[in-house]
Amino acid sequence: HSKSTGNFLQTIIEEDLASGRVDRVVTRFPPEPNGYLHIGHAKSISVNFGLAEQFGGHCHLRFDDTNPEKEAQEYIDAIQEDVRWLGYEWQGDVRYASSYFEQLYAWAEYLVEQGDAYVCELDADQAREFRGTLTEAGRNSPYRERSAAENLDLLRRMRQGEFADGTRVLRAKIDMAHPNMNMRDPILYRIRKRHHHQTGDAWPIYPTYDFAHGQEDAIEGITHSICTLEFEDHRPLYDWFLDHLPVKSRPRQYEFGRLNTSYTVTSKRKLKQLVDEEVVDGWDDPRMPTIAGLRRRGVTPAAIRRFCDMVGTSRANGVADVAMLEHAIRDDLNENAPRAMCVLDPLKVILTNIDDSVNDLLIAPRHPGKPELGERQLPFSRELYIDAADFREEANKKYKRLVLGKRVRLRSACVIEAHDVVRNAAGEIVEVHATAIANTVGSDPEDGVKPKGVIHWVCARGGSRATVRLYDRLFRHPAPDRGDTDFMAQLNPDSLRIVDCAIIEPALAVASPGERFQFEREGYFVADSMEHSADSPVYNLTIGLRDVWEN
Ligand code: ATP
Ligand code: MG
Ligand code: MG
Repeated sequence: HSKSTGNFLQTIIEEDLASGRVDRVVTRFPPEPNGYLHIGHAKSISVNFGLAEQFGGHCHLRFDDTNPEKEAQEYIDAIQEDVRWLGYEWQGDVRYASSYFEQLYAWAEYLVEQGDAYVCELDADQAREFRGTLTEAGRNSPYRERSAAENLDLLRRMRQGEFADGTRVLRAKIDMAHPNMNMRDPILYRIRKRHHHQTGDAWPIYPTYDFAHGQEDAIEGITHSICTLEFEDHRPLYDWFLDHLPVKSRPRQYEFGRLNTSYTVTSKRKLKQLVDEEVVDGWDDPRMPTIAGLRRRGVTPAAIRRFCDMVGTSRANGVADVAMLEHAIRDDLNENAPRAMCVLDPLKVILTNIDDSVNDLLIAPRHPGKPELGERQLPFSRELYIDAADFREEANKKYKRLVLGKRVRLRSACVIEAHDVVRNAAGEIVEVHATAIANTVGSDPEDGVKPKGVIHWVCARGGSRATVRLYDRLFRHPAPDRGDTDFMAQLNPDSLRIVDCAIIEPALAVASPGERFQFEREGYFVADSMEHSADSPVYNLTIGLRDVWEN
């Protein structure tokens, strides 16, 4: 036997398989369809699907849809798309907690018949008062000693829709003095006359998470029900229901620490607030830490999975540095994204020794380290654009770009030397005049005067205009929602800058929506999946070449 080197969940599963407690691992990812998935969910997905994959088991996708008023089909669709995009496939059909409502209800009647559950009529305030506190035992509800027959009658009438919302609940009869508050006669069913996206108006009562989750796991034959640490105190209740019901299989719950990321909020409620208050342009705004937002930002599934591996799986809640995610994104894109040129702040350069009739096509590799990605054509003529930041009339030796009277190489093209500037009425430089040095495509100048550096450029005739959205972190505070920080007051006012007259090379115009590139010397960009077209190109900044937040 080899000794385990994995995380605590891998160790548990290895032991369960070795001892024969289970013969096949079955996990599940159980999102509530009340919002889009975020980077924290990616961790849970990679844990659940990853463990099933590693041990040759299955993972189910189950919508935990017991709260109809906050749930919607839009979220159900988006969640499936996101899980698949991350590279995982669930076993069998998508499952719904709501498809087990009949069975759950039958089990509620069973508990009533066993004397293990009762219908309580305390209102919410009274129930809170009777519940006691952490240091003080609760008191029994005056409805606790009803007969099984009376409880069954009341439960059936609840189910028939006879009573108004909030007037009665079904509770388990456990122990009002239990040190664990979750065991003080927890609620199993509430009356809520709400339309449900899956079951329509069939149910005027809905089960609580606690009453539903473990039983759903048992129905599906889940072996390892993995959730986050906040459910640790619910585990005794999870086990209590399984102990008191005639379930066919016996799942076990395990908890791991939630993934929180710095400069980010990971709570569907808060993300929804950003959407509802139009701070961002929807759930898939490239600044959102949602899977849909990260995808639209140009982040790859591989980078997200790599990040989830890097942060590890432990029994403690922690905050992962968002720079780790950004490094994973850069590493992946550096290796895989083709190179291309885009001038964000165009300054025209006229090559005065090139004839106006010249329209050349230069050839450049799509990726210097990946010849298999092929080549691209770069139009070249008398007029081109460089970035305004790449020219100065005078500069010291540290400035390795174009300077009046000096030389620079145009990436994948020739060396040029600037000799003049043209100004507008306001005295601003609007054109640089330069000469192309002969025979310098792919070789140094014959006169031995070497260029100072390499800059990117785009042909003024062959290039096209594009909109480029420069995104930055949505929050300027490293912990925007922790402690008593108000996350809405921590927004980065510069999280989006739109450049609407960037100039791009032809390869970028004809790219498909969703295609990713490294813009030479600028960063990683993606053709926007919704708005990009060859006629009207739109690119989103995924991430800069270097971390500018490091301090
Ligand atoms: P939120 O507060 O964002 O609504 P949630 O836990 O209520 O999160 P669910 O839809 O219930 O969201 O989550 C589905 C699964 O993903 C659960 O098992 C949950 O524990 C897990 N999960 C949610 N957020 C995180 C996170 N930040 N890190 C790890 N796992 C998470
Ligand atoms: Mg939840
Ligand atoms: Mg939630």
